[in-house]
Amino acid sequence: MGTGERRCGCCGRWRPENQVAELGATPGVYICTGCALWAARRAGLSGLLHRRGTPRPATPAVRATVPVLGSTDLDRTAAFYALPGFAVHVRADSYLALDHPGGELHATFLPAVTAAD
Ligand SMILES: [Zn+2]
Repeated sequence: MGTGERRCGCCGRWRPENQVAELGATPGVYICTGCALWAARRAGLSGLLHRRGTPRPATPAVRATVPVLGSTDLDRTAAFYALPGFAVHVRADSYLALDHPGGELHATFLPAVTAAD
């Protein structure tokens, strides 16, 4: 602990005064920015952020996204991504979905673009 530091009442770490906030109803008790963000997420951050002003419709938090790549040859794309362990999950004429324990990757058929196009 140095001078000008306050102890976070949540995580117990010592932080510079400008990185903690004193809790309103309990003087002498501080919360650090990291714990404040954690608490805001636990309390529903989007609800807190949008409380003022125009109400917004509730939207679920984004848990994951799936990249969709363009491919001129879906069989070749499937073979390429098999090397790091992606398995074919869905194969249609012009669409490919690959599964991996670490994520998902999709590809859509796009004909080759030539200079004449
Ligand atoms: Zn803390």
